Parts: sequence; structure tokens; C-alpha cells
Amino acid sequence: MNTISYIYEGNLYLNITNRCMMSCPYCIKRKWNNKFEGNDLKLELEPSYEEVLAAIKNPEKYGEVIFCGYGDCLINIETVKKISKWIKNKGGKVRVNTAGLANRYYDRNILPELKGIVDVISISLNGSNSNEFNEINKPMFKEESFDEVVKFVKEAKNHIPKVVITAVELLMLDTSKVKKIAKEIDVRFRIRPYLDVEEN
Ligand code: SF4
Repeated sequence: MNTISYIYEGNLYLNITNRCMMSCPYCIKRKWNNKFEGNDLKLELEPSYEEVLAAIKNPEKYGEVIFCGYGDCLINIETVKKISKWIKNKGGKVRVNTAGLANRYYDRNILPELKGIVDVISISLNGSNSNEFNEINKPMFKEESFDEVVKFVKEAKNHIPKVVITAVELLMLDTSKVKKIAKEIDVRFRIRPYLDVEEN
């Protein structure tokens, strides 16, 4: 059965789309056949607002409710906004995990639309320049993508209380260079381990 939500380390993760703005060769959804911790994250259909609310039930029970899954939730931004509002009204905390290409994808600044309803935005930046970023992540907007993500991070600071850049421990990536970029922009930085052993 397809999984809309799953609990991991005290947080509730929401899987609302499998569509993504990148096509990372290292994405674990390929080698793990869309599974994570025993959950099948392959969606035949993206869930409706009502289905997601039913999957969350009580957002206050969790440290954070995190839009994540095997896709970029901001491709489904209207659902993110409606659900985030509902979570905030119920006293929960919202985190959005994203590739940071949504402004380019929509050709408008979507970040003001998240103001007041998203507490944390976590933006992955696996690359420290345009060529490297394009090579590692195969993003939709090719060599233009790196600059778009950096712009997105800077703009996010104007609208979201906590902005984090994350980088995965990949063999081909010098994460210290990404950390330096985060420091220059003055946002937090977090390294994520590369998951190479399936935990299902
Ligand atoms: S951005 Fe995330 S979900 Fe999308 S392809 Fe890359 S690793 Fe997979």
C-alpha cells in the first residue's frame, strides 16, 4: 500500500508527490525501489488534502511535520500551503524539504506564500558551483540551477524563520565548500549521511 505519511525519529514525514525538479543519480528511490523503512513511497496518485489530514491526525504529537518523500513537495505547492495552514492552526511545527528550484519552476517568488505557515525550510545544495551541481544532481534547469538555488536560499531568509542548507556525504562532493557557502549566506548547515544500506 502506498504511504502518505511515516514516522521517523519522532517526526512525521509527508509524501505528497513523486514529481521532482532534479533527477539525482544517487537518489535512493531508484535502488530502494521507492521504499523507505518498510514504507512504499511510490504514489499512484498524489493524495488529496483530506487524505493528508487523515494521515496526520494530530500534528502536535510530533517534533516536526516534514514535507519530504521521494519528490519535491513544492511541485505540489497548493497542497503544501493548505496543509501547513491546518498544521499551524492545530499547534504543530512545519518543515519543508526542497531542492530550492521552485521560484524558477513557477517563474515567480513563491516564498512569501509560505510566510507564517512554514517554520523551517531545508534546501539541499549538493554542489559548490554550476557545473558540479549540474553534474551531480541533473536538475531540470541545467547549469542555471545552482545560481537559482543560491538565490532561493537568500530570499527564503526574508520569509521563513529558520533556513538550512543541507549536503549529502557523497564521494564526489567536498561538503566543506557547501558549508562555506552556507556561512557566507548566513544560514545553518547540516550534513546528511549518504544512505547506502537499505533499512527496510
Ligand atoms: S531531489 Fe531528492 S527526491 Fe529528487 S531526485 Fe534528487 S534525491 Fe531524489
